[in-house]
Parts: sequence; C-alpha cells; structure tokens
Amino acid sequence: MTDAIRITRTSRRKERPRDQDLAFGTVFTDHMFVADFQEEKGWYDPRVEPYAPLALDPATAVLHYGQSLFEGLKAFRGKDGRIRLFRPQKHVERLNRTARRMCIPAIDPDLILRSWTTLVDVDRDWVPSAVGTSLYIRPTVIASEPFLGVRPAKEYLYYVILSPVGPYYPEGLAPTRIKVIDQYVRAVAGGLGEAKTSANYAASLYAAEEAKHEGFTQVLWLDGVHHKYVEEVGTSNFMLKIGDEVITPPLHGTILAGVTRDSALVLMREWGLRVSERQITIDEVIEAAHRGTLQEAWATGTAAVISPVGELAYKGERIVVHGGKIGELSQRLYDTIVGIQYGAAPDPHHWTVLVE
Ligand SMILES: *Cc1c(COP(=O)(O)O)cnc(C)c1O
Repeated sequence: MTDAIRITRTSRRKERPRDQDLAFGTVFTDHMFVADFQEEKGWYDPRVEPYAPLALDPATAVLHYGQSLFEGLKAFRGKDGRIRLFRPQKHVERLNRTARRMCIPAIDPDLILRSWTTLVDVDRDWVPSAVGTSLYIRPTVIASEPFLGVRPAKEYLYYVILSPVGPYYPEGLAPTRIKVIDQYVRAVAGGLGEAKTSANYAASLYAAEEAKHEGFTQVLWLDGVHHKYVEEVGTSNFMLKIGDEVITPPLHGTILAGVTRDSALVLMREWGLRVSERQITIDEVIEAAHRGTLQEAWATGTAAVISPVGELAYKGERIVVHGGKIGELSQRLYDTIVGIQYGAAPDPHHWTVLVE
C-alpha cells in the first residue's frame, strides 16, 4: 500500500509539560495516527488527526475477548536537535509477527514505518530534549467489529499515540528489588508469551501487585511447566553474568523477542564476551550467588533500556547482586545504547532512523 497519509491538524494545541516534570505514560500529544481494516477493503484511510477518544460500540470484540496487539518504541531528540527512532524496523517486524499469532491481518511494513515517522514529525515539538527523556510511541491494533461470537473479527482499528516520557522507574538507574514468582505463571510454550499482546499483561498483574505490597519493584517469572527456569523480569527481558559467561533465556516461545535484548546481545558479542542464550534454572542462579560468581543481573526493555537488579528474593532468601549497585557491564550497555539513541555515539549498525 502506498496510500498517502491524510493529515488533519488540531486547532487547539495542548500545553506541553516541562521536561523535568515528565513521568511515564501520563500525557499524550496533540495528534494520533489511525487506519481502518475491513475484509473487503483491507487496511484503508491512513490518517493523522487530532488526539481524541475512540467511539466504540459496547459489543466491540476487543473489549470482550482481547484480540489486540501493541508495540512500544521511542523517538529521541539528540544534542544536535535531530529526532531519531531506535530500530523501528525490528518493531515493524515484531508487530506483524504478533498480528499473525493474534489472527489480526498484517499491515504493510512501509505503512507502519511511515505511520510512526509522519506522526512524530507532526508532533515534533513534543519530543523532549532533557537527558533521559524521549517520546514514547505506542502503536496498537484492536478488533473493532461489534459482535459477541468467538472468532477473529472482520474489522480492525490500527492507531498510534505518542507520550513524552521521563525515566520509567522514578529511581532511574537505581537497582531494583525483584521477587522470584513460583506460584503464578505468565506464559507457557505454545501460548501467547512471544506475542506483544494485552493478555500477557493482564496475566501478570496479580503477582506483580502482591510483590509490590511486599516492597519489591518487580517480579522474575519462572517457566510455566517446571517453575524453575528463569524467563522474564516483569515485562522486560532478563540477563545475568556468572563468572565470565553472560546468560539470557532463549527465544523458545514463552518470552518476548525484545529489541533491547537483541541490541545488548549484538554489542556484547562485539565486545568479545561469552554470551549464551540458554535455559538457566533459578537454583543455578542462587548457587552462583552463594559461590560468589553471580556478578551482575539486569533487565532490558525499551522503557528503561537497562535496569540493574540489586536484589533477588526466592523462597524466603534474599540475594544481593553486585552489592546492590549497578555493575560495570550493565552501565556499559546502558551508556552505549543511550549514546546511539541520542546520536551522541557512532551508530555502526544503522540502528537509528532520522525523522526529518
Ligand atoms: C515489550 C516487552 C519486552 C521488551 O522488549 P523491547 O523491544 O526491548 O522493548 C520484554 N518482555 C515483554 C513481555 C514485553 O512486552
């Protein structure tokens, strides 16, 4: 589809918060992108219009059976004033992979990319410039057909909204306290774990709330069958360094193929580190901590980039990782990725795409 994107600008611009007041996901920009799907027409009428509530019939399929997907990526304003998206192609590919799993019709990859660059360009004044701030891009597809039968819908809505954001965790790069969850599961092989879809988030809330009440920042999920292999931290990927080996769970269907995960793996392999994508049990992690070989643990994701783990709690035991402080490798990954995102460091892999 090479459809032109129709642009309708708002006549009432909102007030923008100051960079230092930005939290995560609380304010939205002046415009949104929208396209519709009908069986006879395919995806049609791509457009940018003023940000506004959606009018949905109470019978709309997504509200009942959750047929939906989303993505999350960011636009950064560099010191040079230019705006960059980080690895948008990877997000485009993942959006359509999730679409297939959710029985949602694929969207032309070129249209998806243009929906992001066009919308960010229209709202470019909203891209903050303070260090650590960015413009979060949230593409979403929902089954919009009003009907109450269980089958894939025949109508869909693809929309994109933008939110200027500060740090994901108010404590910034401060190490998190993580509770290992062995009573609840997030995903099983063959399920939706590798899809970026709302059901995974709904499934994760109860355990995360319990952990928060106990004073933890996040949870570490174990696999859904044996309850022993580590999988993901909250809604981010998990990595750790034991001795000279960096380990992260493999993409076997239960965890999301994070773009930040991939970026960290590429960088660490370039740096000559021994990197294994392999299963690892929580017992191996605990034993390594007891032997003193567990050096660092961290989570990766678009929202926080690198989030160091300072403490792991499992079966009543509390393990402090790297003295509760950020480790050298976590810091190096953070600095390198953030440097590329803001155009402050060379970008040898052409990970960034300029919005101009
Ligand atoms: C989005 C997400 C991640 C992180 O992926 P990135 O592409 O690095 O942002 C990890 N796990 C889950 C479940 C996610 O939804």
